[in-house]
Amino acid sequence: MNSAKSQGTALITGASSGIGAIYAERLAARGFDLLLVARDQQRLETAASTLRETHGVKVEVLKADLTQKDDVLKLQQRLRSDSSISLLVNNAGVAADGLLANSDSEQLESLIQLNITAVTLLASAAAASFSKAGRGTIINIASVVALFPERFNATYSASKAYVLSLTQSLNAELDGTGVKVQAVLPGVTRTEIWERSGIDASGIPAEMVMEAGEMVDASLAGLDQGELITIPSLPDAADWHAYVAARHVLAPNLSHSSAAKRYK
Ligand code: NAP
Repeated sequence: MNSAKSQGTALITGASSGIGAIYAERLAARGFDLLLVARDQQRLETAASTLRETHGVKVEVLKADLTQKDDVLKLQQRLRSDSSISLLVNNAGVAADGLLANSDSEQLESLIQLNITAVTLLASAAAASFSKAGRGTIINIASVVALFPERFNATYSASKAYVLSLTQSLNAELDGTGVKVQAVLPGVTRTEIWERSGIDASGIPAEMVMEAGEMVDASLAGLDQGELITIPSLPDAADWHAYVAARHVLAPNLSHSSAAKRYK
């Protein structure tokens, strides 16, 4: 594969390890040039050389701390001004451990800046740029904990529910523009995220843990199939469709001029 066959440039945040690094490899194999973003420039450079050599694509490395407003604004500017960018993988994220009541405020804020604020600002810039071009794809990495917040840390779960909701709204807003949107909801995936957030993952049953390569391949298969929401582990897509249908049953009754009888 060489750049002549390029599908444009994929901007991947959190490309220095785990899921983001696998996206970089798989998208290079699909003929995308890459713009790799994370804080660890050395790691990004090492990955970039391998990807250039193996796949013959152009790879640029951009060091950014996405908890820092200036770095996010620079990246937004790049998304708005670089018409070669055709795919955004909004992947960088951190997890957290422990109870909300015992949380360190700075860590909470930092998680929200990375998992929510940066994701939103980058999706906004990509939506503007891609809809103007009439093409492009935005992939937002959420998590299955968006659907089961009682099972995990409150702030992390809520941040991923935000990403799911943002994606659903954005998809409706971009209807008819030619821009594709996808939220990916991984279950437990073997990456550095556990160690980084001080969570002991050794007790998680092996049958619940997916390799990052398998997770990303399933997500890209879901994207190819035109899915808005991809849950790589879920055996039967009908279960998700039933969940969506249940939500639609509520829709006609969510806003009335008078309160329900049981409240009177
Ligand atoms: P990971 O291996 O820890 O990768 C996280 C990536 O984000 C790294 O490249 C890291 O690079 C980057 N990052 C962290 N803080 C950053 C910051 N302040 N600014 C810029 N980049 C930053 O974890 P992962 O599991 O691949 O996580 C990727 C995404 O998948 C996250 O959104 C996570 O919530 C989601 N997810 C993971 C799992 C799982 O079980 N692994 C499950 C569901 C969802 P630097 O340190 O070089 O900056």
